[in-house]
Amino acid sequence: MQLVRDIYAAKTAAGRPVISFEFFPPKTEEGDRNLLEKTIPALMQANPDYCSVTYGAGGSTRDKTLMIVDRIQKEHGLTAVAHLTCVCATREQIGELLSQIRSLGVKNVLALRGDPPNGAEFQVTPGGFEFSSELVRFIREQDHFCIGVAGFPEGHIACKEGKLADWQHLKQKIEAGADFVITQLFFDNADFFAFRDHMMKRHSVKVPLIPGIIPIQSASQIKRFTALCGARIPGPLAAKLEQLGEDDAAVADFGIEYATHQCEELLRNGAPGIHFYTLNKARSTVAILKNLSAAVAS
Ligand code: FAD
Repeated sequence: MQLVRDIYAAKTAAGRPVISFEFFPPKTEEGDRNLLEKTIPALMQANPDYCSVTYGAGGSTRDKTLMIVDRIQKEHGLTAVAHLTCVCATREQIGELLSQIRSLGVKNVLALRGDPPNGAEFQVTPGGFEFSSELVRFIREQDHFCIGVAGFPEGHIACKEGKLADWQHLKQKIEAGADFVITQLFFDNADFFAFRDHMMKRHSVKVPLIPGIIPIQSASQIKRFTALCGARIPGPLAAKLEQLGEDDAAVADFGIEYATHQCEELLRNGAPGIHFYTLNKARSTVAILKNLSAAVAS
């Protein structure tokens, strides 16, 4: 399996965007079968470069995340990034987890602070890490993994000092050894461009800054997600969602159109690729990639 930083280097040199997908570990065996036997095969037709698998709030999916990452790599031959977090974990436990990840032949991790379950405030575990930059430094000491981190074009919801302070903290993660940055979802590309320009010009960041795009599937669901992560729904988008209401089929079609425009503009303006928050569903992402086929053909 490849290192994600090498994937970006090769594709960027060839002038092609990197396409990647995020999945979450399903809760049931039926969900596993759907993901591994239906969703991923459908998405493989779009020739993705890699995927990533989330780590449940509070570390609740530890074994499941690893099982899914392992099966994706072995059964589909697709490079998979394992997310891991600082929540409820000591250094020793994270060290053991990294050994397990390594023994599965997984070379890429996304290092996160994580959020506790049930929307509680983050508490440092005694013997653990307070910020993800400390986790990145710890992983980097092992000199084995390619490390990604999270970036927030609108600033992280808990950063009281504002987005410039949060972007300064992102710079610390990169200095600690991060190789690439995947952003939180956003709906106004101007937020991404301002973030990227600040990181590149003010902080001289050279690692790939990758926009995370979510194809909207349902109005109530996206309101819930954005309330949790603090992303803004711009006025015209909110009005359109209000108009479509609970008609999820119409919302999903509109979501394809909206994300297609977002991706076209991002790629035209130098984004190194697109990371899709698939929500373990293939239809919208496949449709968006079909719309973008001229831009993403390898
Ligand atoms: P950090 O980088 O530690 O930042 C947390 C807060 O502390 C921020 O407000 C930051 O500004 C501040 N901060 C950082 N350093 C300092 C410092 N030195 N001094 C003062 N303040 C500081 N969550 C999961 O539980 N599982 C997942 O799989 C998962 N995947 C994600 C994938 C992506 C692409 C993204 C964008 C988010 C993901 N999350 C996931 C959510 C993430 O864990 C939360 O947003 C979390 O609250 C912040 O994580 P972080 O790694 O950015 O934290």
